[in-house]
Amino acid sequence: MKIAFLTGSQYLYGEETIKQVEKNSEIICREIDKKTTRVTIEYKGAVKTDAEALKAVKEINYDDETAGVIVWCHTFSPAKMWINALKIINKPLLHLHTQFNERLPYGEIDMDFMNLNQSAHGDREFGYVLSRLKIKRETVVGHYKDDEVAGQINKWADFAVAQAFSGQLKIARFGDNMREVAVTEGDKVEANIRFGWMTDYYAVGDLVDEIKKVTAEETEALFGEYLGKYRLNTTDTDKVKEQAKYEIALRRFLNRGGYKAFTTNFQDLHGLKQLPGLAVQRLSESGYGFGAEGDWKTAALTAVFKKMGENRDGFSAFMEDYTYDLSSGNELVLGAHMLEVCPTAAKTCPVIEVHPLGIGGKEPPARLVFDGAEGEATATSIVDTGNGFKIITAKIELVAQPEKMPKLPVARLMWRVKPNFKSGVKAWLEEGGAHHTVVSTAIDTMDAEAFARANGAEFVEIG
Ligand code: MN
Repeated sequence: MKIAFLTGSQYLYGEETIKQVEKNSEIICREIDKKTTRVTIEYKGAVKTDAEALKAVKEINYDDETAGVIVWCHTFSPAKMWINALKIINKPLLHLHTQFNERLPYGEIDMDFMNLNQSAHGDREFGYVLSRLKIKRETVVGHYKDDEVAGQINKWADFAVAQAFSGQLKIARFGDNMREVAVTEGDKVEANIRFGWMTDYYAVGDLVDEIKKVTAEETEALFGEYLGKYRLNTTDTDKVKEQAKYEIALRRFLNRGGYKAFTTNFQDLHGLKQLPGLAVQRLSESGYGFGAEGDWKTAALTAVFKKMGENRDGFSAFMEDYTYDLSSGNELVLGAHMLEVCPTAAKTCPVIEVHPLGIGGKEPPARLVFDGAEGEATATSIVDTGNGFKIITAKIELVAQPEKMPKLPVARLMWRVKPNFKSGVKAWLEEGGAHHTVVSTAIDTMDAEAFARANGAEFVEIG
């Protein structure tokens, strides 16, 4: 995708100054473009009048390939001329506060130089109007060649791309949410209004019909792919191939409808022999958001975080706080799910195993089992407050499991809560954070906050 770059100026200083503004802006854009990994920076020209500002913003708003806009004021740019444009801007905005020259040319500086290079002055005027209009934006300060500035722009560009993705995200729900559970519920119309998430219901029978169309050849081919990628630790290959059929059918179903996230519910599996496990893990691995027990909010958030972190190191995975090691002073959370832990979180090569589930009354499902990665991470929950949404992000540290757990037939992560177990968990409980989260080593609290604020959700950071 692209990021538009607009330079604020005005006609006050004459044609020569405008020419220089255009030239310098292009140089700055090229430099930033070199350092942005997933977007191209497109210079859209110097804005000198209200009509130009409005025209530029209209074009940006309606260009599907443009994820956001960077504005910088090279000279003074009286901000009344920006008001009508800023009132309708519908994409993320980054206010870049930079300057063409890094060092002042002390021996040469004159009033022409002062008039040309006055972002110190012009960006304050622009910032005032942004604040007056209550426009949410990222503000980045520093010389444009500074690596830290480039890093902040890159991080924001990831957010802008994820925001564009979120605005058109469709989630397929197979079945409703788990009976009697509160936190996986929520106002889907409000989520559509705020985040852009369209959540569609399907009967699980619609998926069963799709599964019936999968051929034996297709199933064998995908099973072969599994053998090349994972370790097989079962003789019951029929159960594994059943999941391969689910994967093929799910992928087809989702792609046909433009769905990038989905949910299942172990209470609603009529016509399925197994709870989708390995199939869900495989789809999660290839970027689809997933939420178990009908949890469409966490499915959507997982998809958004996966998109935001696509070009970064690290993973984002649907997760559940399952059980604790409460050893005093060394408390740990064991996170897992019945089956559906995303293999992007794996430290060890995933192993395909088949075990009875103990819940749901179906045949033993195939799943990928692995130990989770280690390192600094976040756990993020999204809940419906009855009056909108709240996003809660906790800082955690993923750690190696202290001992082997040879009888646990499911992929697992272990982590330490920050700042410590008691206060971190207490805060989580008091904020009403869910047991379902997105655990991520790619998304930090600032990313989560930017996403929450941009969409009118409350945000809480713990840790
Ligand atoms: Mn669950």
